[in-house]
Amino acid sequence: MLQRLQVRLFAAFFLVIVVAVATVMGFVLPAAEQEIEIYAHRTGRLQLARMHHWLLGYHSARGSWSGVQPFVEEMGVLYGQWVVLARDDGTVVADSRSLLFGQPFDEDWISVPLGSEDGRIGTLYVSAESGIDEAFALALRDSLSVYLVIGGGLALAVALLLTVVLSRAISAPVRELAGVARRAGSGDLAVQAAVPDNGELGELATAFNTMVHDLARAAELRRNLVADTAHELRTPLANINGYLEAMKDELVEPAVALESVEEDVQLLSRLVDDLQELALAEAGSLRLHRQTEDMKALLQRSVAGVKARALGHGVTLSLELPEDLPAVCVDFQRITQVFHNVLLNALAHTQAGDSIELTAASSDNRVQIRVRDTGVGIPPEHRPNVFERFYRVDRSRARATGGTGLGLTIAKQLIESHGGRIWFEPGESKGSVFVIELPTAYEANARCSTG
Ligand code: ADP
Repeated sequence: MLQRLQVRLFAAFFLVIVVAVATVMGFVLPAAEQEIEIYAHRTGRLQLARMHHWLLGYHSARGSWSGVQPFVEEMGVLYGQWVVLARDDGTVVADSRSLLFGQPFDEDWISVPLGSEDGRIGTLYVSAESGIDEAFALALRDSLSVYLVIGGGLALAVALLLTVVLSRAISAPVRELAGVARRAGSGDLAVQAAVPDNGELGELATAFNTMVHDLARAAELRRNLVADTAHELRTPLANINGYLEAMKDELVEPAVALESVEEDVQLLSRLVDDLQELALAEAGSLRLHRQTEDMKALLQRSVAGVKARALGHGVTLSLELPEDLPAVCVDFQRITQVFHNVLLNALAHTQAGDSIELTAASSDNRVQIRVRDTGVGIPPEHRPNVFERFYRVDRSRARATGGTGLGLTIAKQLIESHGGRIWFEPGESKGSVFVIELPTAYEANARCSTG
């Protein structure tokens, strides 16, 4: 893996450097040449202006071109150019290389006419080929190319070094992560990868750690579920066994024993039903038939289901709903079942003279329903756990109420699978408040059909 990373890094550096050097060569060299040309042109013009000025001065001082040859030769040496001075009729009077003297001049050179007040007195010619400048440009181009190639080579050497250093720095955490992933794959879910930084590798390590943590938690939940279920089944089974033994030994009347056995069988069957429902809900496999429903009707139905029982217990059950309670997008049966369970719980923990009050309000596309009772309440140390599987505050009471300890866990799963929340709040002076919040049909619209 390290090898491949090194090769890839080096290939990337190599490409970048080659492209950079080629780009520099492609742009810098022609630009340098162009600048040299502009510079040569400007200095040529300046030299020409100086020679022109000087020759005019010479002619006006002497009145003729006689004796000008040595000065023109000097100009040629001074400016490094071939300078020719021709008379008005085109005959050469002075030539810096002493080759054309006396000959008519008709070359296509750079020329400046020389004139005085009496009219034209000659023409100054300078060779169009700027020999020195061209040689200079060529030399500059060569040395620039050499420097660029040497620079590129040096950059490649540095890239090689960087590749080794960087690939080590990058591959170390990746290797560590791969090792940890292998250990997690072979079942060691206690492993955690060291988070190297806040960058992508850090994010990867954090995501990996969260995944391993979640897997470990899921494995623990699965183990606990099996252990808890076995534990929950053991009590009613032991009871049934006990009563059957007692019946065999004729220690108890069959009618009495059968009544108790029936109670335990009912508890077992409730337990199995609840477990199946919970397993489906936790796996997200519960089939929800969500439709736009009237929240008022739903709550009225839930209250009606426990009204008679509340009356029988001497508990006041009231329902106070605002006129404009928005519709919700829910599975009517399941959400009615949730409220039914919460109301039954409230009834199980209140006594004659207590009250259970159901109120509702809506804001920000959420509907909030509060089920408040004035019963025994839940001690603070138990509050964080009441939504946990098989959790009962008072285990001895649970048998009397027939609770499986799964009601609130299932309620939480169902509410959450509707995009809502359920939580506990202590009552003002005593008792409990269970708050259920659901999105309105408007908010859940995309997933809702009209009922
Ligand atoms: P169960 O089927 O035993 O009622 P739940 O999951 O519905 O299980 O509730 C868990 C526990 O929370 C109950 O055993 C009970 O101790 C406590 N509880 C639930 N509702 C109330 C309430 N309204 N007042 C007091 N305790 C409550």
